[in-house]
Amino acid sequence: MTDLEVSAIQVIDENKVFNSLLVDYMKQFYSQNNSSDDKGLNYHIVSVFGSQSTGKSTLLNHLFHTKFDVMDESQRQQTTKGIWLAHANHISSSNESGDFANNTKNVFVMDVEGTDGRERGEDQDFERKAALFALSTSEILIINIWEHQVGLYQGANLGLLRTVFEVNLSLFAKNKQRCLLLFVIRDHVGNTSLESLSDVLTLDLQNIWSQLNKPQGTEGFELDDFFDLKFVALAHKLLQPDKFIEDISVLGDKFISEDQLFNEGYHRAIPIDGWSMYAEQVWEQIETNQDLDLPTQQILVARFRCDEISSQVYESFHEQFVKSNWDDLSFTEIGNSLKELRQNAVQQYDILAVQKVDLSILEVYTSVLQKLIRQSRDLYLKQIESSLTKKEAGIIFYQVLDNAERESLKYFNENTSLISFVDVDDSEARSYDPSPKLRELEEELSNLRTELVNKEQENIKTKIPRKFKSHFKLIVQDELSNIKPSSWEELLDQFRQVSEKLLAKYKSPDSNYDFHLGLSKEKNKELHEQVLIKFWIKFKEILNDFVTETNVLRLLVSKFEDEFRYDEEGLPVVWKNSAEIDVKFAKARNSALDLLPLFSLAHTAEGEILPDYDIAHDEAEAESDNEEDDGFKESHKFAHLLSARDQDAIRNKFKKQTDALYVETKRSVINSKTE
Ligand code: GDP
Ligand code: MG
Repeated sequence: MTDLEVSAIQVIDENKVFNSLLVDYMKQFYSQNNSSDDKGLNYHIVSVFGSQSTGKSTLLNHLFHTKFDVMDESQRQQTTKGIWLAHANHISSSNESGDFANNTKNVFVMDVEGTDGRERGEDQDFERKAALFALSTSEILIINIWEHQVGLYQGANLGLLRTVFEVNLSLFAKNKQRCLLLFVIRDHVGNTSLESLSDVLTLDLQNIWSQLNKPQGTEGFELDDFFDLKFVALAHKLLQPDKFIEDISVLGDKFISEDQLFNEGYHRAIPIDGWSMYAEQVWEQIETNQDLDLPTQQILVARFRCDEISSQVYESFHEQFVKSNWDDLSFTEIGNSLKELRQNAVQQYDILAVQKVDLSILEVYTSVLQKLIRQSRDLYLKQIESSLTKKEAGIIFYQVLDNAERESLKYFNENTSLISFVDVDDSEARSYDPSPKLRELEEELSNLRTELVNKEQENIKTKIPRKFKSHFKLIVQDELSNIKPSSWEELLDQFRQVSEKLLAKYKSPDSNYDFHLGLSKEKNKELHEQVLIKFWIKFKEILNDFVTETNVLRLLVSKFEDEFRYDEEGLPVVWKNSAEIDVKFAKARNSALDLLPLFSLAHTAEGEILPDYDIAHDEAEAESDNEEDDGFKESHKFAHLLSARDQDAIRNKFKKQTDALYVETKRSVINSKTE
């Protein structure tokens, strides 16, 4: 058993130096199960993350039959720091067949040995770099945590995940590299179901994601644009040793199975013979703090590969060449043999030369397409801007977007066909297929569209109600300045008319509303409702602004004065006797005070006015500083404009002012009599 086993290799040592012997380690597996048509891609990289001494190495050793160092319990000795890699010797499985070499997929595992970096600043650097490295190379990241750490932000080492996420965004936002986060929950006692543990972790991750400092241009990405999440639990190794082993083999089954964990989308597509070079490049850039630009990396590796293969061609030619016993051959044989040797070499060489040429071309081609995408997107935005600023009558927003999109895609397609240079039946043409880029552009345009539509929606929700307010305010002021019992009926009527008028251009023949944004019927309905709610809120705002204590008092006094001081013809009254004053005074006062209930409660014959929607909530949001009279809920009701206290205050002030007028008038009549 042990003869077969390959031990682990330290990829990065404790001094952060890359091990140049990795290439030799990997060579052992170049030909293993990598048939010529799998392009050297039949292998997988899995890494493990987690706090120190959480049994990561133990897990890997049981699951993949590797021999990573495990902390010795009796000495509590630290294992050797660094990043370790091992080819899985065997993957545990619940249906063991005795076939030891079942790792036909060539799973490699990486074990990161840090110290607990949370305490020592220097080691955080190592942790971060190790995270970067694992992320740039791995298809699956195992996150190893104790069950009791779930839900404890720090304890669960989710801080490191924050780093992983951030790094991932800056690395992979461009090419949307996906990877699987496989949470392995250790010492699972079983009181809490795996499902609810998963829920807690998922929620934590979503929280971390939402709080990330997202690099510019990546703000809109969601966690699941990059990561798939899976969860497994393992029993306590010491308390339930049998169950632990059983759980491990069930987990192993998932690694063996075709599509349970691995996914083509996770693979970095670096051929296995270029992997150590790729890994070294990645590490070098991490160490020198350069930005990692991975697509170029892949081209670099491929180019390196070409050089290597071309010297291989020469080597195999040379080998054949020196092996031949030229002296013993006939002239014809010499001729044929040379011809054959040369032909073979040249033929192989041609293929390689073309490969090299193709790589350079691909590089240019890719960057030109990238540029074309940028231009097409700019064209899209410019088209929209110019159409919208023209403010043509009857402009339909979504048609503007549709047109711009059509133009942009046309521009892209026309130009890609201009730069295309291979025949469709050329087998290499696949590499130059612009359709993935076209899809990229389409996706980008569709994201922009969503953004624009959302913005326009917000626009509609603020602009139209604002317009409504400025129109309707004048109507309300006019009406209430001469308030009469029918005023509220009148205003309600006007309210509906103004609302209708402002939205008329969005009303379709079937009486539904369509805001020209290409929204569904339901969404349009929702938006319409939101605008109407805003109208009601504006209505209430206008009323609150107008129906104030001072304003109402002023209006009552002026109504009183009109009636008291002027006769029916609008001429100033000339008092004949003091009794006449009393009668007219009482009458004028009563008719002025009769207006107060009209101001206090907005009502029609049917009762108080109730908005068509519940606006209390939205309104409270709009004026959140209005909290001091929380005992007086009435003020939040639409129709209740003056509280009982307000009314008393108005009545008192009104009385004082009119009393003064009364006294003054009386005095003037008496004076004129005595003169
Ligand atoms: P690593 O630092 O995360 O790689 O942890 P190690 O694999 O070196 O293990 C650290 C210690 O935890 C060792 O003493 C192991 O025996 C112990 N250990 C490993 N797996 C488990 C487990 O599932 N449960 C418990 N309770 N202890 C474990
Ligand atoms: Mg370890």
